[in-house]
Amino acid sequence: MAKILVTDPIHEDALRRLEELGEVVVLEDADEEELRRHVRDADAWVVRSGTRVTRELIEEAENLKVIARAGVGVDNIDVEAATERGIIVVNAPESSSISVAEHTMGLMLALARRIPQADRSVRRGEWERQRFMGVELAGKVLGIIGLGRIGRQVAKRARAFEMEVIAFDPYISEEVAEELGVELVEDLDELLRRADVVTIHVPLTEETRGMIGERELKLMKESAFLINCARGEVVDEEALVRALKEGWIAGAALDVFAEEPPGEDHPLYELDNVVLTPHIGGSTSEAQRAAGLIVAREIERVLKGEIPENVVNLPVAGVSEATRRLMEVGERLADVGAQLLEGRLRSVVVKVGDEPGEREREALKRSVLKGCLDRILQEPVTMVNAVRVAEDRGIEVEFAVSDELESGELAVSLRSEGEEVSLRGAWLDGQVYLTSVNGYELRFKLSGPTLFVWHVDRPGVVGEVGLILGEHGVNIAAMEVGRRERGGEAIMVIRTDEEPPEECLRAIGEVEQVRRVRLVLC
Ligand code: NAD
Repeated sequence: MAKILVTDPIHEDALRRLEELGEVVVLEDADEEELRRHVRDADAWVVRSGTRVTRELIEEAENLKVIARAGVGVDNIDVEAATERGIIVVNAPESSSISVAEHTMGLMLALARRIPQADRSVRRGEWERQRFMGVELAGKVLGIIGLGRIGRQVAKRARAFEMEVIAFDPYISEEVAEELGVELVEDLDELLRRADVVTIHVPLTEETRGMIGERELKLMKESAFLINCARGEVVDEEALVRALKEGWIAGAALDVFAEEPPGEDHPLYELDNVVLTPHIGGSTSEAQRAAGLIVAREIERVLKGEIPENVVNLPVAGVSEATRRLMEVGERLADVGAQLLEGRLRSVVVKVGDEPGEREREALKRSVLKGCLDRILQEPVTMVNAVRVAEDRGIEVEFAVSDELESGELAVSLRSEGEEVSLRGAWLDGQVYLTSVNGYELRFKLSGPTLFVWHVDRPGVVGEVGLILGEHGVNIAAMEVGRRERGGEAIMVIRTDEEPPEECLRAIGEVEQVRRVRLVLC
């Protein structure tokens, strides 16, 4: 009989389901020693965010086939260690989407009708019907930032409220939006200008941190509401406080904060046009039950030798060392390419020098897709779900063998509507090197913050860029220039010790011979 270890509280229906699959051992607040003892002969291990599944514990396990996270994030699990040991990690990414979407609708209504304020007023013994004149949602424009799992559920519900729904999500296909009856807008500014209610459903990434700041809030209508049920850091809270105080927007509702809980004397508490909840978007018994049942089903699949649906990792047993290196090259090049590309990613071409076997080809393709998508999504994009995630976004993938490439070299081309980024790379001296950018040849190690500066090859440009970096206290760790001919278009690739600040990038962009600057995190 299989032993299923459960070390964080999960819904009782899920426990019952697990009991049908094997002997369930529930441990509460177990210490390291107890965990070690129990994990040794466990076949499956269920956790939420409370248990730290460390490499040491994973290495202790002799029979473990699956680690299941009854929820979304897997930060508390050493996925790499599990992968190395051939242990599958699964999660339940869909489990709270409806709950968060419903909470968003609740907040929207609370803002439109000022329900929390009215409730407080009645409790004070007041009866101020005039003061609580509200607005209807019907006929208003809802702007959804991030049309992923939660964003889509919000869209469906808002349509039922007869709202016009527009969305900004550069990584989603028009077909997906169309099916939902949502108009996809090309840029965030347009959404902010048009929407009566703006709701945020993007993950926290380098791109989305501080995405809504003073400039964005000032673009919104004075009558508009802002809702954030995603992550606090996506909104610049200081700017939001000013926006609410000075009337740039009419109100806001927040379920998430930059710091949780927000400090005792947070300026938001003094404002009447804001509704605050303590990160409870996903806290419903249904979401908790769904998370438990999803992972119970996944464990059943694994124990029966079937492939589970929500796999976070894919044990890469069976591919050669050389392929693994190429996979690493592919993933890193795709990650860089996706950061360089302007506009929505439409298609990806992967090229190698030697004809690979079927399994190798698939592994390379998936690594490249993972590299393209991992930075932009909340759910971990893995070797397993990369193809599905790409299909969902209408991204086409092609694979080709090219005699222009040496064995051990790989090329990735990413295309958007108006642009193409082609990168070539190789595994050299135990590291991933970039060997060409859009035909400019280089030999540049990918590690750390890297600036790509397209410019016209003239004496002094390189020095000027170096000087600007220096003036902003940014130290250059390595640098290379690629050009096709003297005096023509060229590219500078600069690795810096620290991330150059925005104003530094802007100053470089203003140098006369510089055409474009892009900071890439490697
Ligand atoms: P998801 O990965 O399914 O969807 C995120 C969407 O955002 C994707 O479609 C992606 O293409 C899009 N996106 C990424 N970067 C973008 C950008 N720069 N501009 C516009 N769109 C961008 O994630 P999800 O499951 O829908 O979760 C969304 C957010 O909700 C996450 O931040 C998650 O942490 C948060 N969340 C909050 C609670 C809560 O309790 N309040 C609960 C669960 C999830």
